[in-house]
Amino acid sequence: MSIEVSKIVQGVEPSATLAMSAKAKELKSAGETVYNLSVGEPDFDTPKHICEAAIEAMKAGHTRYTVSSGIPQLKEAVCRDYKNRFGLDYKPSQCVVSCGAKHSLHNAFFTSLNPGDEVVLPAPCWVSYAELIKLCGATPVIVETKQEDGFKLTADAFLAAITPKTKMLLLCNPSNPTGSCYTRDELLALAKIVVEKDLVVIADEIYERLVYGGLSFTSFPTVLDGLQERTILIGGVSKTYAMTGWRIGWLLAPETFTKKVSSLQSQETSNPCSISQYAALAALEGDQGCVEAMKVEFEKRRNYVTERIAGIPGLSAPQMDGAFYAFMNIKNFLGRSYGGVEVKTDRDWCLALLEQKKVATVFGSAFFADGYARASFAASMETLEIAFDRIAEFVK
Ligand code: PMP
Ligand code: GLU
Repeated sequence: MSIEVSKIVQGVEPSATLAMSAKAKELKSAGETVYNLSVGEPDFDTPKHICEAAIEAMKAGHTRYTVSSGIPQLKEAVCRDYKNRFGLDYKPSQCVVSCGAKHSLHNAFFTSLNPGDEVVLPAPCWVSYAELIKLCGATPVIVETKQEDGFKLTADAFLAAITPKTKMLLLCNPSNPTGSCYTRDELLALAKIVVEKDLVVIADEIYERLVYGGLSFTSFPTVLDGLQERTILIGGVSKTYAMTGWRIGWLLAPETFTKKVSSLQSQETSNPCSISQYAALAALEGDQGCVEAMKVEFEKRRNYVTERIAGIPGLSAPQMDGAFYAFMNIKNFLGRSYGGVEVKTDRDWCLALLEQKKVATVFGSAFFADGYARASFAASMETLEIAFDRIAEFVK
């Protein structure tokens, strides 16, 4: 007998980012040296004061269920942070802390979408959005953006994608996988359409602290009065504080919405890990020097990767203004044979690069962009140097 899988879950694709990373780890445990630019997670250790706060939390007995939507101190700290940095007013009751930003996104989609609703998803986009939307019985409407536009959604393309079924726009800024970052004016042009067409926006701003070249980041709900009422803002500690394994993220939204998100979460996961919540609190309230130090290091790597890509004939990538990904256009390198292996698609290319050169990247088609490969530069300089030497050799 086999247990029949539900129709809705049968359609779920595994996360390609995590799958490529698992493949790299498999090779590594078989004794290979792998240069892993696949998964997007900081290679830094979680700062010491954050780990110590977790140990203190355990010692103090914070090892039980917490309020489902998160400990009040953490929700207060999140709200204070958005007030201080963006001037945004949120009450703790408008914040729900969850088991990572991915879980916050799941909660956001699940609480807002009905079957048949359409979500405008500018592509290239991160691997999990479309799958989470489909799990709700809703439809992701993929809108292609162009490399020459910095892979940003234009007002015209947005308008053209809107139908009577459109409920929502998903905006990832800075973008995973392209590293592009919207200016205030670009956001304003989209925001006006959102208001005119009476839509909701999920603004995934998990990379907002990681912007480069002196750029100042604009948070989506700040660009127009009244936008906060129709925005679900997503954030978390995974990328900013090198805390991917702690699983803490949050959403901020109007109270009528967060009340229902809290009910949903209370039935699904009870609460995010109590110890991790105290660690996240220490991250937000502690010295922010660690964030600055990691950002400086990421920026050095981003500059290095930009140079290396420019130095490989036929390879290109959009300017990386934020996050930690290079989205490399590999179209010139497809339709060839590598070490006797025919490479037709970006997936073939990434697999051949991994097998033959032991460099792990993620194929662009996983992000709805054929002919690209994503390389994470959240890896040491030494790894990046060797990885790009090998990419250069591979395509020669
Ligand atoms: N949004 C984006 C754009 C991401 O790249 C990630 C990466 N994991 C997440 C959300 C989820 O982050 P978390 O680790 O907090 O679940
Ligand atoms: N967001 C990271 C990435 O895109 C981590 C893996 C995942 O959650 O997809 O690689």
